[in-house]
Amino acid sequence: MAGEKARPRPLVAGNWKMNGLRSALAEAKAVADALAARSAPCPADVLICPPATLVMVMSEILKGTPVAIGAQDCHTEVSGAHTGDLSAEILVDAGATAIIVGHSERRADHDETDNYVHAKQRAVLRSGCLSIVCIGETAGQRRAGQTLDVVVRQLERSLDEGSTSFNTVIAYEPVWAIGTGLTPTVEDVAEVHAAIRDRLTSRFGDEGLAMRILYGGSVKPQNARELMHVPNVDGALVGGASLKAADFLGIIAAYG
Ligand code: PEP
Repeated sequence: MAGEKARPRPLVAGNWKMNGLRSALAEAKAVADALAARSAPCPADVLICPPATLVMVMSEILKGTPVAIGAQDCHTEVSGAHTGDLSAEILVDAGATAIIVGHSERRADHDETDNYVHAKQRAVLRSGCLSIVCIGETAGQRRAGQTLDVVVRQLERSLDEGSTSFNTVIAYEPVWAIGTGLTPTVEDVAEVHAAIRDRLTSRFGDEGLAMRILYGGSVKPQNARELMHVPNVDGALVGGASLKAADFLGIIAAYG
């Protein structure tokens, strides 16, 4: 297959959402221990994004392991009068090396627009962290045949001009597939990822070719292999199944 040769190293990222007390640190530690015990090198980059309260302790516990720690959101500013918010710089100081922006739950719960997501991504780039920019259509938009238009428009508006394959990862997450157990067909995933790749390469050239595009939405150990081997799928953003070490490791195992 033509595009296969140039595939970047996959990324399997866990999004714990608003789950995780200190007792959950054992799950993250179990992932790191299992990856360290492999005789072969870890087949993918691995990231866990716990609630912000666990970023510092988890990054300290997992220092030197194959598991990096990220955050789930950030403010656009560096510091200031923004009660309750966390800047990208504060999260980096706590040990985050990646930050998710534009997750559909934040777009829905906090009315985050593409422009706002763009400002947040710019903040992540400013901090030196990897930005994971989420896009995806709702069930209604898919039914109305608007999937590609919606996804490409979100991509276009949410992504900063300074995006490169080193500082940016795209996560395609159909909203209707998140937490529902439903997944698109592999043909549907291939179609959307190809459209994203097209847009990235026409805007960023070779950098767009090397930029990783994750699939997210009800990824489980049982469907990971099939989904992860679709052309232009360079890894997964995993919600529910990232909370248990065995499930998360089962997804990473899709890469061998
Ligand atoms: C997510 O929230 O990013 C996600 C993909 O969730 P789940 O895997 O639970 O569908």
